[in-house]
Amino acid sequence: MIFKSINPFSQEIIAEHEVLTNGELNQKLQLSERAFKKWRNTTFQERADKMKKLAYVLRANKEKLGLLITNEMGKIVSESISEVEKSAANCDFYAEHAEQMLKDEYYDTSFKSLSVYDPLGAVFAIMPWNYPFWQVLRYAAPAIMAGNVTLLKHAPNVIGCAKAIENAFLESGFPEGVFLQITIDIPQVESVIASNIVHGVTLTGSEKAGSSVASLAGKHIKKSVMELGGSDAFIVLNDANLERAASIATQSRMLNAGQACICAKRFIVTEKVADEFSALFAQKTQLLQQGNPLQQGIDMGPLARLDLAKQLSSQLHKALEQGAKLIVGGERENCNFQPTLIDFVTVDSIAFQEETFGPLATIIRAKDENDAIAIANNHHYGLASALWTEDREKAYTLARRIEAGNVFVNSLVRSDSRVPFGGIKKSGYGRELGAVGIKEFMNMKSLVIE
Ligand code: NDP
Repeated sequence: MIFKSINPFSQEIIAEHEVLTNGELNQKLQLSERAFKKWRNTTFQERADKMKKLAYVLRANKEKLGLLITNEMGKIVSESISEVEKSAANCDFYAEHAEQMLKDEYYDTSFKSLSVYDPLGAVFAIMPWNYPFWQVLRYAAPAIMAGNVTLLKHAPNVIGCAKAIENAFLESGFPEGVFLQITIDIPQVESVIASNIVHGVTLTGSEKAGSSVASLAGKHIKKSVMELGGSDAFIVLNDANLERAASIATQSRMLNAGQACICAKRFIVTEKVADEFSALFAQKTQLLQQGNPLQQGIDMGPLARLDLAKQLSSQLHKALEQGAKLIVGGERENCNFQPTLIDFVTVDSIAFQEETFGPLATIIRAKDENDAIAIANNHHYGLASALWTEDREKAYTLARRIEAGNVFVNSLVRSDSRVPFGGIKKSGYGRELGAVGIKEFMNMKSLVIE
């Protein structure tokens, strides 16, 4: 079986990748096991030296790797290069802080009692195409600094990126098997989860994929972290700085052609300022240039796959039939989807109920701030939210009422190596990044010495 990598802008096949046979997959699992036996005994300093080298290798190759990302999944090349840089910075961050994060913790007892953090084994990761480097380095850098090893099943359209990441690990001096990319198909996933070497499963992707993989992890009693979809609320209150809110709204919805779990998707605006916000948002959306992601001056490339672009068109047309008003955009040619804004969306609209994974912004009008919070919480997802108000004290109180794993006040929702990241409800469970992220796949061993 072969996975084809199709450039979403030109629709040309740019590479073909053979799927591993079950025998080959088994050999990779054995290699992973052998690598763990040695890697677990390395010192933090040895791991950090290699992780720093990896950051260097990524930065030194950022143009080449950025081009690969753009050709495989279509984001504009400047965003691709920034993604490689952000991934490198995450390697540096965990190289510098892992030892401190995992230091022994002592308890106040009459005898000696403490927690120590031991690595578990292999972490199996299933990752998506939308940030093909960042999503991988985000989990892999902490896992490997902690003494674990990892196996990556990447999305079929970004296998070139998966192979490039594996090569970068090897070039940085990591022993073979510490980071392994495995080109496998869905029916092979269970055998990896079931393997004795695998002790943790992490997935970033859709709710459907998360539900299936979490079930398998449960069946085989493996710890799991799920980073799933979102339909993030972007709440604008009467006293918000509307000009700035509209600028960040545009950035938050349209970055990466709208294909991020933490893109703002539901813009919930109090009635008094809704007309003005809608007009500002429309102005800024109209300025965006959609086109060839390799060309200078282009703000947004195509969507990553044709089926995803068709799905977004279908959601848009259904929302318009359900009474939403088209303000900007709405056209699609192959994977190229115009930056689009619709207004007067209601809570029963498909554009409210479902995740829209592309450049489609929806404005929902709320009576007042209490109504806005209620609308924001009226959803099965709970990944992140943004709240716009100039009253910072009120912001704290309202933020505590928002049902989401992350709330950002007056700024762009973004992930940061230093700050834990993850969702609640159908957006998943567990946390990545920060000191909490590195502890997800550890044996927190209680040690009592009398
Ligand atoms: P998927 O969730 O289907 O794909 C993400 C990863 O999960 C891929 O590696 C995929 O592999 C794998 N996967 C899918 N189903 C299973 C399964 N049953 N068992 C094991 N692994 C599985 O996302 P899509 O690419 O189809 O995108 C569809 C939607 O997913 C988007 O519209 C968006 O809503 C959401 N999504 C969310 C992301 C996020 O960052 N939270 C990222 C990407 C998508 P394969 O492709 O081989 O099936």
